[in-house]
Parts: sequence; structure tokens; C-alpha cells
Amino acid sequence: MELNIPEGINYECTGCGKCCSGWSVPLTQEDYERIASIDWGALSPDLKDKKLFRALKTHEKLNTPYTHAINPESTGQCPFLKNNLCFIHSQFGASVKPAICQLFPYSFNETPEGVFATVSFISRGAIFNAGRSLIEQREYLKTKYAEFQKLFPNHHPNWSQLKLSSNVPLSWSEYSEIEKPLLALMKDPAKSIEDKFMEGSRYLDSVLHERLTKQEKVDGRPGCKSTYVGKPKQTYLNRWDKILFLTLYKKYFPMDKQRAKGYGQLNLNAASFIKGSFNTSQYDKLIVAADDLAWSGVDDQVKDLINRFFYSHVFAKLYFGAGFGQLSLIAGFNHLALTVALLKLKVRQNAKCRLQSKINLDDAVSAVVQLEKSLGELRISPYGAAILELLLGRQQRIERILSLS
Ligand code: SF4
Repeated sequence: MELNIPEGINYECTGCGKCCSGWSVPLTQEDYERIASIDWGALSPDLKDKKLFRALKTHEKLNTPYTHAINPESTGQCPFLKNNLCFIHSQFGASVKPAICQLFPYSFNETPEGVFATVSFISRGAIFNAGRSLIEQREYLKTKYAEFQKLFPNHHPNWSQLKLSSNVPLSWSEYSEIEKPLLALMKDPAKSIEDKFMEGSRYLDSVLHERLTKQEKVDGRPGCKSTYVGKPKQTYLNRWDKILFLTLYKKYFPMDKQRAKGYGQLNLNAASFIKGSFNTSQYDKLIVAADDLAWSGVDDQVKDLINRFFYSHVFAKLYFGAGFGQLSLIAGFNHLALTVALLKLKVRQNAKCRLQSKINLDDAVSAVVQLEKSLGELRISPYGAAILELLLGRQQRIERILSLS
């Protein structure tokens, strides 16, 4: 299979050990059998009598290659991390570590058009764009992909249900053509991240309009009028904008106490939105609390990090279809656009927590790492996906939220 590698993304391990904290490591059945059969308590007293692993529930396993997870410490750290080193690795070598840790931070997304590689922005090496570009590491990436195939032999993402919007099917070749301008837009250094997503969202809206108009001519079914009017119709967010924003903000950037306790436990379902609908006043409080921090003054390093993060997700197709909750292309792209606004708010909140009046790179780093973890662990129920399709199906909402973020 052809290996596709994104431009402008570098990676080298910085040896900081931070990748092993703040998330719960999922295990394949083989990982579990290999690692759980070792008497860890005999090797290290602090691992004695600890419940190190848990089985995933049926819905947690769905569409994943995983069956179990490592229970993190109450601090969020992996119990096998000692003095910034992996205890499994130091005792038994790299090949005994969980498959995901052996491959980390490389990720490989198999599609009908080849494999799309990138790196996880949980890693500080990826965050800081350290080392050589992934393109220069092509040969090494090929060896990592061979390992990926060996470690996940039965994991083949299902791209057969591809849709343009909730009820408009899309073939892979149609998608490929639609995606070219989107990727060019995401790479454009002259545009701000907000403009990239607003233009991308408008472009997809026009593709949908064209598709439905053609359909109307062929089979007489009613098409749709493009509702884009050049500027957001409102200069304030409506109730549903706020419910969507607040629900996802709390999901992706939880307070420590509300953080999901393990892999597969971060769920987006109908109940998440119902809860969010009772609390829209919290949205105003959140915004007001961060309002006096100007985004326009953020430095180029922060902008570069955010641009690379979103480009990586679009390039590697980690935002729709089998890459993200089987969402349609439009809902998936608009969801990613919305996360730009959520991320900007979180960066501001981080600066506020430091009692600073100016955003710095650390504020952005911790927000990007948290968002990457949340998006990677999120499980979207069928009702959750239906609500996202409904609320993110058209671009005016994105236009409003991004222009006010
Ligand atoms: S198993 Fe080892 S490499 Fe994986 S998260 Fe834990 S300490 Fe890190």
C-alpha cells in the first residue's frame, strides 16, 4: 500500500516521558495476554496488589483493535512509568510494551487510496516540530508501518459508509477530488486558521448544493438552496450554538475531577447534549472570563503549532468517516472547525489560570495535547453522531462561532 506522508511535520523523541501521562493506554488481546501474564508485583513492590488492567466494555471496543486498557494512576500517569522510563521496556525490552506504545507517536490510517501517516500531537517532539521532517524519514516510517501491520493484523478501518452529508453518499474517488482544494487551503501559509476553516466549510456547502441540484435534475427530488450569504447572519451565538460549544468544550477539556478515567470512557451521546442544554449560562461565564485576552496578539509559534495540528488531522483523514466516528465529510470538517474555537478558548483559560494577561506557548501546548488525547479516546454513540450531523451539517454555525471566537 502506498504510504502518504504530510509535508511540514517533523518528529524526534525529546525523551521527556510526558507521553506516558494523562491518558489510558489501550491494549490488544495479544498485548493483554503478554503483559498481564507477568507478575509485576514481584518485580516492583509499588505494582503489588494494584488493579493494573481492565477489560473494555462491548461499546468501548467497537471499531477498535483493543480489548483491554491499563488503569492509570489517580495522577493520570501510566503505572509502568518510573523515573521517566517505561518499566516494561527496561525489564523486558521494547517488544513487550503495548503495541500502541511501540508505535507511538506514529499513526497510520488505512484508506482505499493508501495509508496516511502522521504523528500524535500528544508527543512533545511533534508539538515542537523537533528533528527531521517525516518526509525525510520515509524509509523509517515504512518499517514502523510494517510493525503496525504486524501488531494490528486485523484492524482495517471501514470506509464503505462514506457520506458527504448525513444522507448523501459519497464514493472514495468523489471524496478524493473534493479533498484536493481543502488540503491546499489547509497548507496555505497566508491564511489564518479561522479563514481556512471558514472557507473550507463554505466550499463543502457549495459542493453539497451542486450535488443536490444535479440530483434534482436527474430524479426530480428537491435539491437545496445554498444558504451562505457571505457573512454570518447573526453577530451573537444562538442557543444551539452554545449548547454544542459548551457540550464539546466540557467533553474535550474536562476539569481534573471530570476527566474520563480510562480508555473508552470518554463518550459523546445524546445525554451529553441534554446535560449541556441545561447549562447554556455557563457558556457566557466561560467567554466573559477569557474575553479580555486578545487572540490577535498570539505569537507565530502558537499559530504554527495550531496550523500543524489541524493540517495533520485533515491530511491523515482523522476527522470524518472511519477516521472519526463515521461522521459525514461535512459534519466531520465542521466539527474540526468548531474545535478551533474550543481550543482558542482553552488556550485563553490556561493563560488566565496563570494570572497572565498574555497567551504564551505553554498555554497552547497543554491545550493541544489535551485536545489530541480527547479526540483519540472519544467514542461517539449513534445518537451522538446523529446530533452532530444535525448541528454541524451546514456552515453558517461554523461561520458564526469562528468569527466570534
Ligand atoms: S506502557 Fe510504558 S511506554 Fe506505554 S504508556 Fe506506560 S510507561 Fe509509557
